[in-house]
Amino acid sequence: MTTFSQLGLAEPVLRAVTAEGYEVPTPIQARAIPLFLTGRDMVGLAQTGTGKTAAFVLPLLTRLLADNKKAPGLSCRALILAPTRELAAQIGASVAAYGKFTGLTHTVVYGGAKAGPQIRALARGVDVLVATPGRLLDHMQAGKLRLDLTRTVVLDEADQMLDLGFMPAIRRILQAAARPRTTVMFSATMPQAIRQLADDFLDDPATISVSAPSRPIEAITQSVFYVDGGAKPEALIDLLAPEAGRRAIIFTRTKRGADKVTKRLVEYGHKAAAIHGNKTQGQRERALAAFRSGAAPVLVATDIAARGIDVDGIELVVNYELPNVAESYVHRIGRTARAGATGRAVSLVAPDERGLLKDIEKLTGKPIAGLNEAPPMARGAAARPARPQQKRGGGGGGGGGGRPRAAGSGGGERGERSAKGGQGGGERHAERSGQGGASRSGQGGGERNGQGGGSRGGPGGNRGGQGGPRGGQGGSRGGPGGNRGGQGGGGQGRSKQRAEA
Ligand code: AMP
Repeated sequence: MTTFSQLGLAEPVLRAVTAEGYEVPTPIQARAIPLFLTGRDMVGLAQTGTGKTAAFVLPLLTRLLADNKKAPGLSCRALILAPTRELAAQIGASVAAYGKFTGLTHTVVYGGAKAGPQIRALARGVDVLVATPGRLLDHMQAGKLRLDLTRTVVLDEADQMLDLGFMPAIRRILQAAARPRTTVMFSATMPQAIRQLADDFLDDPATISVSAPSRPIEAITQSVFYVDGGAKPEALIDLLAPEAGRRAIIFTRTKRGADKVTKRLVEYGHKAAAIHGNKTQGQRERALAAFRSGAAPVLVATDIAARGIDVDGIELVVNYELPNVAESYVHRIGRTARAGATGRAVSLVAPDERGLLKDIEKLTGKPIAGLNEAPPMARGAAARPARPQQKRGGGGGGGGGGRPRAAGSGGGERGERSAKGGQGGGERHAERSGQGGASRSGQGGGERNGQGGGSRGGPGGNRGGQGGPRGGQGGSRGGPGGNRGGQGGGGQGRSKQRAEA
């Protein structure tokens, strides 16, 4: 097995790696670091959470140390471009951590923050500059930065920079950078425009790919829950109920959607914060800090804001809405299962999102397991009349396996309904009261203990377990939880809130 000390890194950099607690290089590090050290251009196809940042920052710092020059004012020796301010800030933090024994300087510039301090930092000259393309270009055009001494350029998350419309800025930046230079590009996917960029600006690049492009990492248990669009708020609440206090990211398609979902979650007692493009930089930073510290363990995000966020211990990613672009699905779910951990990704899929789901399955190469049965797409199914409310709770089913049954066998009326796919909001609410069965029906268990748990079609209870707030025993369910092998139940904490509401 390769060790860090075999990779040719400088001693102060190795020391920092040890201080970070890294024992062995990840596959991308083992391959990219020696290549980067030779100065050859490189294209890395890498998924999030693979250790990609260290794969380029460690050799970059080593090269700067070896080439012991000083950056004159208004210049940087190495430039790292990232699509979002969050990612730029995160890379900046990695540069600080990995470079803490090197004496090298770094600064981060991005939009949405005051230009003055950035300009002052650039005026002094900096070894490593981390930047988003738009703001960087502004500084260049204002004469606050020149790149003709920049001999190393890293483009991180190139495909997202493309999506965000940064391609013209990137091209201008690369045109301005020194030659010859080392240019390294990382991208999770390789659309044609990115290939073209590599053709135009990279010189005979080596290509490395650490796992099949566009395939979510294996450690993520993926599932979908078919639900009527109008029933999603309820489904989300169900899904998160047994997760209280654990880190989860919820993705919405729109900023407004993110705010609405956040409001709803807060109403239900979750400590949730939203992060999206309409938030001020301060709000975004506070939301991320609260998420990181665990003060607000639920983060509701749009794609752009969340890309590249590296927070350990995210156990669950919920796609409240599927992304329009299948690749974004891969990025979203890559927020979990980072650095060797496992994680879950649950997507709430409304009838009008079935096409998007197909696209995702095509991209990832395999069907995603349904936590309930996909409702038929035929007209007849949609027109089915609402089911009247039935007895709540259900009598505790036969215990689920790793995956809940589609139609809530064991007496779960909600399960059946879910399987049929959301007919009408009123009925939905009535039925979902049966969810978290034990707490409401009193069938076997106190409000929070939920033994003998109700059968449910709701998406909670993912952890199963015996009684207690995380799930009653033995309820069969049709909800979108359960892929931990739990036996139904769960969701009681929220049921109590609901009962009080
Ligand atoms: P990245 O893909 O760069 O966002 O990194 C994902 C996570 O892996 C970060 O939290 C890093 O701190 C962590 N990490 C990077 N390299 C290693 C390593 N060799 N061993 C353990 N953790 C690592």
